Amino acid sequence: MAGIEYKRGRTFMGRIPYGEDVLDSLTGFVREKGIKKGRLQMIGAVQRAVVGFYDSRSGKYVDIVYDKSMEVLSLTGNISVKDGEPFVHAHVTLGDEQGRSFGGHLMGGTVVFAAEFIIEEFQGEDLERKHDQTTGLALWDI
Ligand code: ZN
Repeated sequence: MAGIEYKRGRTFMGRIPYGEDVLDSLTGFVREKGIKKGRLQMIGAVQRAVVGFYDSRSGKYVDIVYDKSMEVLSLTGNISVKDGEPFVHAHVTLGDEQGRSFGGHLMGGTVVFAAEFIIEEFQGEDLERKHDQTTGLALWDI
């Protein structure tokens, strides 16, 4: 096990406008603010959602598409650096009209109905994602 100690930096609270792509908006925001490491959370609702399930056998994400309104019960994620740019990795739990929950790795194509986010920046050395041969994933290079 390995970890890096960070100090707290800036904290942002904000809203993503109706119709925007969740992952694109969060990524755009952290790049615009120059946030290279930190954590994020979001609640709200989406008009449609796309989440991924990582199939460890094929080494690929399988998309799961929900083409309907869903509550965002919880979206949690982190910010680090990949290919020299701030990169958002987020997982989302969605609720349907019967209170059932679904979720996965947040993918592009998840469209906001209403969304409130909190982003906390960390200060310290950059944390970079590099290709990991064992898993096939871009993991933190610690
Ligand atoms: Zn993931």
